[in-house]
Amino acid sequence: MQEMQPNKKKTASFVMVMLLIFAVINIFVYYRFMNQQITEVGYNVFMEKIEKKTIKEASIQSNQILFKDTDGNVYKTGLMEDPQLYERLYKSGATFGAEIISQTNPILYYGVMLLLQFGLIFFLWRFVSKRLMKRMGDNPDMLSFSMGSGKSNARVYVKSNNDVRFRDVAGEEEAKDLLSEIVGYLHAPEKYTEIGATLPKGALLVGPPGTGKTMLAKAVAGEAEVPFFSISGSEFVQMFVGMGAAKVRDLFKQAKEKAPCIIFIDEIDAIGKKRDASLTTNDEREQTLNQLLSEMDGFEGNTGVVILAATNRPESLDPALLRPGRFDRRIPVELPDLKGRVDILKVHAKKIKISENVDFEVIAKTASGASGAQLANIVNEAALKAVREGRRVVQQDDLMESVEVVIAGYQKKNKILTNKEKLVVSYHEVGHALVAAMQTQSAPVTKITIIPRTSGALGYTMQVDEDERNLMTKTELMNKIATLAGGRAAEELIFNEITTGASNDIEQATKYARAMVTRFGMTEEFDMVAMEVVTNQYLGGDTSLACAPETQTKIDRMVVEIVQKQHKKAREILEANVQKLHEIAKHLFENETITGEEFMDILNSSENTLLTKPSE
Ligand code: ADP
Repeated sequence: MQEMQPNKKKTASFVMVMLLIFAVINIFVYYRFMNQQITEVGYNVFMEKIEKKTIKEASIQSNQILFKDTDGNVYKTGLMEDPQLYERLYKSGATFGAEIISQTNPILYYGVMLLLQFGLIFFLWRFVSKRLMKRMGDNPDMLSFSMGSGKSNARVYVKSNNDVRFRDVAGEEEAKDLLSEIVGYLHAPEKYTEIGATLPKGALLVGPPGTGKTMLAKAVAGEAEVPFFSISGSEFVQMFVGMGAAKVRDLFKQAKEKAPCIIFIDEIDAIGKKRDASLTTNDEREQTLNQLLSEMDGFEGNTGVVILAATNRPESLDPALLRPGRFDRRIPVELPDLKGRVDILKVHAKKIKISENVDFEVIAKTASGASGAQLANIVNEAALKAVREGRRVVQQDDLMESVEVVIAGYQKKNKILTNKEKLVVSYHEVGHALVAAMQTQSAPVTKITIIPRTSGALGYTMQVDEDERNLMTKTELMNKIATLAGGRAAEELIFNEITTGASNDIEQATKYARAMVTRFGMTEEFDMVAMEVVTNQYLGGDTSLACAPETQTKIDRMVVEIVQKQHKKAREILEANVQKLHEIAKHLFENETITGEEFMDILNSSENTLLTKPSE
């Protein structure tokens, strides 16, 4: 079932309130006017009240007498042969002859009541809708147009005070360059139409999650100062066939009315998947896609509606969407490089109070591979930590700790490791670090810790590359695998026993070794032949094999050989430096965390007699 939309909820509660008001008014009026309490009493009571002069008004009708006493109660009694009645009444001082209780005419009563109540509802409705309109005008950030399920639900961001500009999107210079042409077009379409050029109708922002695709689309709208319709692809997919297509139609209709404007469709792969000949068809999705395709064809390049869409699975999109005239521009929005990361950290740091001597470069280096969203999160986590610790400004340490939180999760302070476990973890981590440090081309160790984290890691070794790396040599890859094997090798060497602690290392080492064989052409046997293709570049980089079954067997064998060789090398390195291994592991065991400098100090200390370079 579709969830109730906020607007429907509002309407439902409005109706409920109105019904309640209706009921209250009706009950009140009924009791007040229709059901006035009239007590029937005997003629003697009437006579007594005349005697006591407690009758205020009386009305003698053809079949009964109604009278009201001085307390305001109304009574009735039957008619009796009583010739002196009028005289006695007159003497008692009562008013009589007048109609004391007007018997309400029910038809008239209900007519008036209905008119009154409808009037009230009409008035309230006008009042509420005016207030709503005003609110939308004040806060145009999010304005929902939905009233029925065939409507588009698009949120429209009309120009608002806090709109996003290109300067808010740090890094991503290439994407901004490509998009600024669209901004120029939305600003002054005549320049382009004069010369006869048609601008792309759509641009597809492609990249991993959290790299700022939505932000870029908003920034285009902000720069061009045009309305911005934003909708997620999944919102089109409905339970009933045809509903999604109706939504697409409605969205384009609204957009054309507001042109020039931008439509932003997030996660377009939800509707734009390849239409294939598989047995399970999805009529609703296909109809929605067809409608989108025809809408995009339906308007000429110069109506001023630009469609931006975002996806992290470009390979799954239907080719019809990507042909010229539709989403013919593809704008890569990649993970930020070192400079990009520094810039993003700085943009977000502006929003918080931060100490002046924070070195963003160091943080950006440590957070290699982080997306814009993760960096924003790192800054925020640091601010939260500062508040938790009662400080007023964020310091370098806060940021460093929050990088670790993002990489490895929070510290699990109350997780108790037995001393034996702690010792194993210490040797395991120092094993990694020592193997890394002893291989000249491996990045130096920055930090080793054995404090368990919420991600499940019992400890970890942090390595930070000095410079941003784009290429990796075969030797570096081999060294990396050896470093990963270092943990297990240390366990074998010291305890003569192995544990489950190496599972993550094993996974990664296998991934590197497999990639070397199947994708990087780093073996003589397969030369430059791809045995695997990446199917999911931006979401984890899944691969699928593209080779004969016999080749697969060979690949597996070769992967095992590579890992075995590096494992052996790691062990050799540790055997040669076992003294240092003991020394550093002891230090780590006692202190739980050691920094890169401390590590290097111990490594290079004077009794460093056993240090040797490993044999290849
Ligand atoms: P996407 O649409 O690519 O998944 P978003 O645009 O929704 O990512 O980004 C999520 C958040 O991450 C943004 O609100 C912003 O705070 C932060 N962010 C991502 N990339 C950047 C960037 N390049 N510059 C500044 N902030 C960014």
